[in-house]
Amino acid sequence: MPLTANDPSKKTWLETSTNTDFPIQNIPFGVFLTRDDIITIGTRIGDFAIDLGALHQLGYFNGIDLTDDLFMQDSLNDFIADGRKTWRLVRNRVSDIFLEGNSNLRDNQEHRNIVLFTMDEIEMQLPVDVGDYTDFYASKEHATNVGSLFRDPENALLPNWLHIPIGYHGRSSSIIPSGTPVRRPIGQSKPGDDGVPGFGPSKLVDFELEMAFITTDANHLGQSVSIDEAEDYIFGLVLFNDWSARDIQAWEYVPLGPFLGKSFASTISPWIVTLDALEPFRTNGPLQDPEPLPYLHHGDNKNFDIKLQVGIQPENEEETVVANSNFKYMYWSMAQQLTHHTVNGCNVRSGDMMGSGTISGPTKDSYGSMLELSWKGQNPITLKDGTLRKFINDNDTVIMRAYSEKDGLRIGFGNCVGKVLPANK
Ligand code: MN
Repeated sequence: MPLTANDPSKKTWLETSTNTDFPIQNIPFGVFLTRDDIITIGTRIGDFAIDLGALHQLGYFNGIDLTDDLFMQDSLNDFIADGRKTWRLVRNRVSDIFLEGNSNLRDNQEHRNIVLFTMDEIEMQLPVDVGDYTDFYASKEHATNVGSLFRDPENALLPNWLHIPIGYHGRSSSIIPSGTPVRRPIGQSKPGDDGVPGFGPSKLVDFELEMAFITTDANHLGQSVSIDEAEDYIFGLVLFNDWSARDIQAWEYVPLGPFLGKSFASTISPWIVTLDALEPFRTNGPLQDPEPLPYLHHGDNKNFDIKLQVGIQPENEEETVVANSNFKYMYWSMAQQLTHHTVNGCNVRSGDMMGSGTISGPTKDSYGSMLELSWKGQNPITLKDGTLRKFINDNDTVIMRAYSEKDGLRIGFGNCVGKVLPANK
């Protein structure tokens, strides 16, 4: 199935700005509420949201084998479960419909009124009903930094880290779309000299700069996915802010790992950018030494060059960019993560979400969390308004961005935004 939608020379008849995250080569998938309060599956070109349910009803997908109500749903799970052939046929067809020179929809004002929305007319929803959410820990720089800060700089990486894509099972119920506020969590923290644990609003709320991939049905219980097939089961990616309360985390995480310090909220960007759209941005990951076990061996170009940025915006103030990183720094690729996830026979389903873990680069300005950027509070960051941050304050908004760019083609994710509200009284 050719990826005709990726042709960088294609132009659309819709008016788009040159540096948009959503050129006609992107064609991401999402779910939104229309101005008439109808929920639908859609895509986006430039600053237009496009109702795929309406396009389907009007016959624009004729010749593609799709069930009648495939896009008239409140999640992409069924569409994703249809598999890669369907994703490609639909993406290629959307590209054709909006291609410069194709007059079918362009010159049909009645249809345009039904199908096209401006972004301020719609409200983005969660794109998938996330059945299971797993968070990996796949950036070597991040694992080394956290190991140094929480344990011992001499033995920062635990012995298993270079052999296993480490992960834990997270909580899917608190995954929220960009723009949803986040309530500062309340919990326990390490006891002081009196031996009594602290209790109250977290003092150390942090972001984690991550990407997450969304899967289709990959395997039956008891079977595993081979490394050569793994990418076939990855539908696409979103930006992912895995909000973390470091004081709650530090007290609770031994022996079983993260729990309430992580599960209060995780924010995602609402458009799923397909792995197909990211095809031009493949690159090699870091050298893996020691060589992983054979079931995790793969060839070149399994990482993706996606520029990542984090900004903090205090209330009524300007935003300050605090970190610039890149998805290509991941030590363990998505293919290795998914393969490892299923090697024991655990079944992965359509709509499951796999977080990468915090994506930290090699330099101090490329760390993906305040824990690392402020080195556990030892080196506070100065914002443009002159105030200092060790972690995230009440009413701060954290803004994440991600895009790939090469030879004049830019494929982006839009923003992943969340504002921290004061804890409940
Ligand atoms: Mn995380």
